Amino acid sequence: MSQVHPVYAAMETTIFEHMSGLARQLGAINLGQGFPDGQGPPEIIAAAARALAEKSNQYPPGAGLPELRDAICGFYARRQGLELARGDVVVTSGATEAIAACILALVRPGDEVVLFEPAYDAYRPMVRRAGGVPVAVKLGPPNWRYDLAQLKAALTGRTRLLILNDPLNPSGTVASEAELAAIAEICIRHDLHAICDEVWEDVRFDGARHRSLMSFPGMAGRAVKIGSAGKIFGLTGWKIGWMCAGPAMIAALGRAHQFLTYTSPPALQWAVAGGLAMPDDWFAAQGEAWAASRDRLKRGLEQAGYAVLPNAATWFLCADLVASGIDLDDRTFSERALREGGVASIPVSAFFDAAGPRRVVRFCFTKSDATLDEAAERLARFRTGLL
Ligand code: GLN
Repeated sequence: MSQVHPVYAAMETTIFEHMSGLARQLGAINLGQGFPDGQGPPEIIAAAARALAEKSNQYPPGAGLPELRDAICGFYARRQGLELARGDVVVTSGATEAIAACILALVRPGDEVVLFEPAYDAYRPMVRRAGGVPVAVKLGPPNWRYDLAQLKAALTGRTRLLILNDPLNPSGTVASEAELAAIAEICIRHDLHAICDEVWEDVRFDGARHRSLMSFPGMAGRAVKIGSAGKIFGLTGWKIGWMCAGPAMIAALGRAHQFLTYTSPPALQWAVAGGLAMPDDWFAAQGEAWAASRDRLKRGLEQAGYAVLPNAATWFLCADLVASGIDLDDRTFSERALREGGVASIPVSAFFDAAGPRRVVRFCFTKSDATLDEAAERLARFRTGLL
């Protein structure tokens, strides 16, 4: 074991994998790891099946099929007003690969990297593996606002990069225009690059159009925007994601990608290209179905005595355990609710270092009505049993 890199020697299995594994083993309802329970959009799956039979099954270009890279540009032009060209886009095996490629390509030994916590669990170990130093700036419940004074205080002469996840997993909140403008201004003043993990950009329930940090004046040359077909279409197992950046950056990001996965299955790339060209109504209908599931779980949890925090985006609802009258820390709650109550959730402290909040749990709501109703009933029984 002494040969193992210290980052991996000390690492645990991710909370998502842990909870999904236990849920499978115990036959529990899995509201932990974020994924919809259906098969996914039939027209996109049919397109993938056709592409498997009729198109090439050999290596596509390393940067992705040109048709998909164009479709990504078209999607962002139409839905976010961004002007990107095919050469600004590299297709990756999911957003997690894009995050890894960005960190490997942009972080030099000793560089400090600002992470806003709650932070997706891949960021911190990847920064450390790249020789960088993660520096946490914390957001807190119930509103999870960006504390700009804390951000400024975290910057030093060695800060090189910040990672912003907007909309934010696990809180399901969205940065305001003013917060984004202030973060952009800080990036420019301190000459920082920004990794914009925007995988939830299309899972918004506030009626607002997604605004990328990349679109603020002066950010185009210093930001990389990460997207995910898994989130846009509810096809998480496909692992098709991408990263977009200006010419100076994308070449280096592509070099990192070529020695991570090099490329991703062409049939899935063809199908995603077709999916991104679907009309806006199609995306609106999918968003309405997800919003209805969110409202159903919210009602169920509230009737069961849980204090549900506000949600404007993502597939997740969070509950505050203290306000729910539950005297357990979030890890104990998630573990016991799974083993004794038959419902998996995610403790939000997994998104923080040791000093984060310990009283919020996350539930994924992209499930059938019957599953959500049964989960709410089980969670009601479990809570009553604790009182
Ligand atoms: N993004 C997913 C979530 O937050 C987890 C993805 C994963 O397990 N790699 O649930």
